[in-house]
Amino acid sequence: MPIRPIVKYGERVLHAPARPVERIDDAIHALLEDMVATMYAAPGIGLAAPQIGVALRVIVVDLSVGADKQQLIRLVNPEMVEREGEQKHEEGCLSIPGYAGSPARPSRVVVRGLDPEGKPAVFEASELLARAFCHELDHIDGLLFVDRLSPLKRDLMKRKLRKRVREGWEE
Ligand SMILES: [Zn+2]
Repeated sequence: MPIRPIVKYGERVLHAPARPVERIDDAIHALLEDMVATMYAAPGIGLAAPQIGVALRVIVVDLSVGADKQQLIRLVNPEMVEREGEQKHEEGCLSIPGYAGSPARPSRVVVRGLDPEGKPAVFEASELLARAFCHELDHIDGLLFVDRLSPLKRDLMKRKLRKRVREGWEE
């Protein structure tokens, strides 16, 4: 399971909507394996394919970061079918290291997609899992948590990030 480099803020693939997966084949299985390995190595609780430079609608989430195999979620072509309420907690992003913000998220979501075998999978989530789903679903739509902040905070952070992009992200 090769660990792939994580693409940083400013790279085009992170700021454009990803394409749906048409067929779940060996290439998608390999992609999912690499995404899980990369998420655990980071370490992080979620990763979307664009974060390793692949513009496909594929996400992985594991709140236990590998400690509990039951918690690993791998979804192809996920979509949010229900959302309600609101919560606000600090979030970071592996593609924006060193920065955090508190975007408004729904307090409860229902997410539907395909599992690695191509079977329909549905998850109802609240609290941290709901935030993780929202964060990763945003990634496949080309949105980052920064884009969800209030205009004042967003502009401030984007100014700082543009400077970081010009100077280059150090590894
Ligand atoms: Zn992220």
